[in-house]
Amino acid sequence: MADKRDYYEVLGVNKNASADEIKRAYRKMAKKYHPDVNKSADAEEKFKEVNEAYEVLSDPDKKAAYDRYGHAAFEQGAGGAGGFGGFNAGGFEDFDFGDIFGSFFGGGGGRASSRRNNGPQQGEDRFVQLEIDFMDAIKGKKAEIQINYDEQCTHCMGTGAASSSDVTNCSRCGGTGTIRTQQRSPFGTFVNETTCPDCNGTGKKITKACPNCHGKGYINKTITVELNIPAGINTHQQLRVAGKGYRGKNGGPNGDLYVEIYVRPHKHFVRHNDDIQIEVPVSSVDATLGCEVDVPTVYGDVTMKIPAGTQSGAVMRLKGKGVKHLRGDGYGDQYVKINVQIPKKLTRKEKELYEQLRKVGKSGSIFDSFKNAFKN
Ligand SMILES: [Zn+2]
Ligand SMILES: [Zn+2]
Repeated sequence: MADKRDYYEVLGVNKNASADEIKRAYRKMAKKYHPDVNKSADAEEKFKEVNEAYEVLSDPDKKAAYDRYGHAAFEQGAGGAGGFGGFNAGGFEDFDFGDIFGSFFGGGGGRASSRRNNGPQQGEDRFVQLEIDFMDAIKGKKAEIQINYDEQCTHCMGTGAASSSDVTNCSRCGGTGTIRTQQRSPFGTFVNETTCPDCNGTGKKITKACPNCHGKGYINKTITVELNIPAGINTHQQLRVAGKGYRGKNGGPNGDLYVEIYVRPHKHFVRHNDDIQIEVPVSSVDATLGCEVDVPTVYGDVTMKIPAGTQSGAVMRLKGKGVKHLRGDGYGDQYVKINVQIPKKLTRKEKELYEQLRKVGKSGSIFDSFKNAFKN
């Protein structure tokens, strides 16, 4: 235990973090290292570490002890089963990883493991991605996606039994779902707990399988999910579809489905949050004399006045022509960057006119006054 990392460090919070902050940090880290998501070799180890840290820091008594004595506070109490004794699944009720706990804390303390598999557990959330067009994100859209998921059997409510009288306690484990064996060694007696092979840890035996799902408790289905993509949505934002995630256990509900949106870029419009940027080419003559241009916006063309003497790179704002705010009323703006084009080829006539301009205009003297500035 000497090499254990500091629990606050594990969760990435400081010592003054509130219970809420600790909870949030825990959720973040647990998701990050969840072995179903994170395939790196040490994910399982990290995941355990995170859970252990939260187990202590979420419990005011344990936290106080840890704050005073550090890891030493728990070393004596670690018990014979190896590792941290008495992980209590109850502490994770609102953040349940289903059978992950079963596999991870199988060797741990008695209380947690005897109840870990028996109760209904909500399934995990599922994440899918959906790419949409730039304009669909601006205007909103109804979209349909097809997903394949395990729906809880409505006949048996996920139990897999034909009726409630067809469920009995497993005789091998007495309904606990685990089998305890004692092992003697020179260091003491170890209590070993393993998942009951007869009932796979459910603690239940089904004498007559549900005819609808053939005892599985769920039915695999391909369904079409209607998504209401709101105007203003942006890349990485998620839509939640309740109950269409991974299946629960022992009659627990499904997790939720999260659809993460990816907005394809547009050829001309560039989006920054709820503002839109666009570049508009203007001839040097129009920029010099001023003009009106029809600027494309996501809502159609808008006539914009370009004042005489507009410089290349000048940015003008079209108020309210940006993206609709996802939350609350109102719209972002459109920023129009003026790109003054200097002609590369002139007709003979144009060249003549430019030559005349040079003679009569002030433009010829610009460089002279610049040079003069260096003479002082
Ligand atoms: Zn069924
Ligand atoms: Zn059993």
